[in-house]
Amino acid sequence: MSKKKIVVLGAGPAGLSAALSLLQSDNCSVIVVEKESAVGGLSKSFDLWGKKVDLGPHRFFSPDSRVNKWWSDRLKGHYVLVNRLTRIFYKDKFFYYPLKLLNVLAQLGFFESIAIFFSYVKVRIFPLRTIQSFEEWVVSKFGRRLFNIFFKSYSEKLWGLPCSTIDLDFAAQRIKKLTMLEILKDLLGGGLNRKKHKTLVDQFVYPEKGAGQVYDNMKSEIVARGGTFVFDTVPCQIEIEGQVIKSISLSNGQLIQCDELISSIPITDLFKLFNITDEKLANSIQQLSYRNTVLVYLKIAQKSIFADQWIYVHVPEIHAGRITNFENWVSRVGDGFSTLVFEYWCNSQDKEWNESDSYYIEMAKQDASHLGLFSVDKIEDNLVVRIEKSYPIYKKGYRQPLSDLIAFSHRISNLQLIGRNGCFKYNNQDHSILMGILAAENILSEKQINLWNVNEGDEYHESAQVNYEESRSV
Ligand SMILES: Cc1cc2nc3c(=O)[nH]c(=O)nc-3n(C[C@H](O)[C@H](O)[C@H](O)COP(=O)(O)OP(=O)(O)OC[C@H]3O[C@@H](n4cnc5c(N)ncnc54)[C@H](O)[C@@H]3O)c2cc1C
Repeated sequence: MSKKKIVVLGAGPAGLSAALSLLQSDNCSVIVVEKESAVGGLSKSFDLWGKKVDLGPHRFFSPDSRVNKWWSDRLKGHYVLVNRLTRIFYKDKFFYYPLKLLNVLAQLGFFESIAIFFSYVKVRIFPLRTIQSFEEWVVSKFGRRLFNIFFKSYSEKLWGLPCSTIDLDFAAQRIKKLTMLEILKDLLGGGLNRKKHKTLVDQFVYPEKGAGQVYDNMKSEIVARGGTFVFDTVPCQIEIEGQVIKSISLSNGQLIQCDELISSIPITDLFKLFNITDEKLANSIQQLSYRNTVLVYLKIAQKSIFADQWIYVHVPEIHAGRITNFENWVSRVGDGFSTLVFEYWCNSQDKEWNESDSYYIEMAKQDASHLGLFSVDKIEDNLVVRIEKSYPIYKKGYRQPLSDLIAFSHRISNLQLIGRNGCFKYNNQDHSILMGILAAENILSEKQINLWNVNEGDEYHESAQVNYEESRSV
């Protein structure tokens, strides 16, 4: 019997998980097409100044036992257990995240804390009439004052939009179950509220060689099982007959036949390969956009700069949104320097996206001086890394165009969309891994698992026993 030919676009966590799951059956041949020369996508790690670093902070967490097992099987015991410390920098002060009562009171002062409390009471007594934006969602849950301090500035830097224009799906997928009651329990008890919110866990497992170690191991397993990688290559055209994809032409001149296509590349890029003539659909593609990240890595001749794995910067005057200290992930004693990365965000059409490396290095230096964490004289080296399409932008109104694209994809019988950019969904690694595993299961067991149910706020956070076995309807 001839093997089913399966093409996977993108070698990030989603694409690799799909490919490896498929190769557990002898009935599939798998080709993975990847634009870059390495695997791991946004979760890759690379060597810098003799150490492994990630593209910003990458903490793995999943409430799904199957995903945890899948991920830890690829770690092969090479991990460290990290005691999580992350803080928020606001008004020249550091706040523990998760928030701690005494710390908040001490930093904000008694009167500001009381004002937060009354702002919360106010919104309880006079609830908002409509809740359609991220801002309205947070204000309705926590009160405006807390929103202004702990949500507004960071979110606006990240998305480049006023919070009133950010869709509430962002909240639904990230902080839905984090209620004021939960914050208060945590504030009051610290240790009393043992069953912490899923986003607030105290410890996490981290691969010794960075987040990408898991994906490098997946690549080795895929190759060992007969899978093929085509690197530094993108798809140029997709041939469809009726409602079935037949073949894909690649930028390296190859034409590959295909029985099934699994795509984790940005949904908008994929749709451009379909020669869409429908004006409405073409318009829907235009309406979806992604946010880019610029990372500034600094080599600093100083140890123990700060103890956090990363710091959120909630100060509008500081351009960086987050600063990661790789020293606090895997301890590196005796090397005499620290590696920090400062994160900046912009859109492809923004002037900032085309600014020079020196522009960004200068900005990181100014931010460092403002923060007062270390003297800029101690910076020994730097590296600027630009990541295009790092976050799908949940701008209000994005759901309709996305639904149009999803509906079109469902009409093609041998196409499955997976992954963060592939599904235009704010996935973490675990969501993308799960989508990849389930897409493979749909092919191997002829199931109809609805992959769009993965990373759907409510259900996802409430229970590890999520039922994904639903019909393919949107
Ligand atoms: C700064 C930052 C911090 C993050 N922190 C965390 C964290 O703490 N914890 C966590 O779990 N997750 C985190 N994430 C999210 C995590 O990186 C992603 O969820 C994960 O990598 C998504 O996997 P994916 O396979 O869906 O997509 P990707 O990782 O984006 O992989 C897609 C792959 O497709 C390739 N590709 C793109 N276009 C084409 C094309 N046209 N042809 C061929 N190949 C193409 C890309 O090169 C890439 O290799 C973070 C992300 C960022 C940006």
